[in-house]
Amino acid sequence: MSGIKQNLEEIRNDLGDKVRLVAVSKNHPAEAIIEAYGAGQRIFGENRVQEILAKQPFVPTDVEWHMIGHLQTNKVKLIASTVSMIHSVDSLKLLTEISLQATKCERIIDCLLQMYIATEETKFGLDQKELFELLTEIRQNPLPGVRIRGLMGMASFSDDASLVRREFHGLKLLFDKIRIDYFNEEPAFNELSIGMSGDYPIAIEEGSTLVRIGTKIFGSRY
Ligand SMILES: *Cc1c(COP(=O)(O)O)cnc(C)c1O
Repeated sequence: MSGIKQNLEEIRNDLGDKVRLVAVSKNHPAEAIIEAYGAGQRIFGENRVQEILAKQPFVPTDVEWHMIGHLQTNKVKLIASTVSMIHSVDSLKLLTEISLQATKCERIIDCLLQMYIATEETKFGLDQKELFELLTEIRQNPLPGVRIRGLMGMASFSDDASLVRREFHGLKLLFDKIRIDYFNEEPAFNELSIGMSGDYPIAIEEGSTLVRIGTKIFGSRY
């Protein structure tokens, strides 16, 4: 059995049937995606628009692309017709552009709002005040080309499991709150994208529905 296939099977055993796996193929070639595809994987995560565009012609058409990295407004149009979900929405400006480009393709794009939950200063994402402002704004002026499916967050890059757990737990509480306050318990608002190679078991315990795992499937190429 290939390394990728075996890694996928090990991870799937940990996930159970409520959590979906985004295989993060950034920095890995299309061949790695094809191998994972052969082992049944369909959802792939990339953090750069150019990498999606470069690999897409070489992989099966039913691959679901999830954009998980910081997305510049001027690049949205390049992936609007193909991306299945954007995990990394961190401003109203970006969300508005996604809606515009999706509408041009006669699509509705699933989006997650990326929250800043880590102690490090380098990570992207909204704080709570910005989140509430954004949600209030789109309640008044709905964006027809996007469907907000939930929240995404990256915990601190830390060996301190209790810190990571607190950060995930805080995000789950926020998720539950805005599901009630802003989404009227809408069934489509049901995704919590937390958990990477180093912390996904904690994320699952804290309510993850989508884990984004790269290194543990494909090995390290960063
Ligand atoms: C690279 C990346 C991942 C995957 O990280 P691993 O530690 O390799 O599993 C998950 N989420 C985002 C946003 C990433 O950029």
